[in-house]
Amino acid sequence: MYIGRFAPSPTGLLHIGSLLTALASYADARANGGKWLVRMEDLDPPREMAGADAHILHTLEAFGFEWDGEVAYQSRRNGLYQEALGRLKSEGLVYPCYCSRKDWQAAATAGADGFVYNGRCRVPAQRPEANGKTPAWRIAVPDRIIGFQDEIVGYYAQNLAHDIGDFVLLRADGFWAYQLAVVADDAEQGITHIVRGQDLLVSTPRQIYLQQCLGANTPHYAHLPLLVNSLGQKWSKQTLAPALDLNRREALLRQVMRYLNLPDAPEVDRPEELLAWAVLHWEIRTIPCNDIVTE
Ligand code: GLU
Repeated sequence: MYIGRFAPSPTGLLHIGSLLTALASYADARANGGKWLVRMEDLDPPREMAGADAHILHTLEAFGFEWDGEVAYQSRRNGLYQEALGRLKSEGLVYPCYCSRKDWQAAATAGADGFVYNGRCRVPAQRPEANGKTPAWRIAVPDRIIGFQDEIVGYYAQNLAHDIGDFVLLRADGFWAYQLAVVADDAEQGITHIVRGQDLLVSTPRQIYLQQCLGANTPHYAHLPLLVNSLGQKWSKQTLAPALDLNRREALLRQVMRYLNLPDAPEVDRPEELLAWAVLHWEIRTIPCNDIVTE
């Protein structure tokens, strides 16, 4: 049984890095006789781009991708996240935090992914007065190693207490944090295999810890090499990654297939045939681990 997914955030249009993730997650699922779901991670309206969600789905179709079932929209799954947070609350694993970012970061140490929260609000006696403020909700993390074997990267581990700190699940502005939503969704959708970019490797121990707290299974993970520009920066909206050009579908698919070390495909008429070639020749073990500088 294999259920995989591609989970774009509609903060911008798909670019070459997104195409690599889409192709790899799709080919890994299909080569294993699995399902491939698409989930729109539209949780952060201030960062989103109007119309990007429809544009992303149209682009996936134009490149020949066929997903199973309906597209899931995180913006419509509030109840699921409430339920997960409720469960963590009832088990006493989370706490309200009234610290302003400015205040706690001023004294914080740097961790694996930004500053490590000092845990002030974990102790009720130290918690500042609410004063009508809406809190953020944080989960108290354990002081132990959480590691996993990644299909591409190998063993990866963190001590959440030292490397990350108690992290936010529900933001003070009322938006759900990515970490909670992604774990609740992966569990509810029965995801067994996650193939995504190495920018998210640093999040995985947090997600495994949340899975453990929520009694969910831990999927298999494969974190793909990142496509970077000549300055070594990941292609993204911030680094002005160009949107995928639908007039160059074949060239772009061939480009990411080369990055994934797939053999050169014969001449084809349609992008679907390149995807079929990728599925037929899929070999996760030959995917390189290190960043790839793109032309
Ligand atoms: N929505 C995330 C992104 O676009 C991906 C989340 C995931 O694959 O877990 O970077």
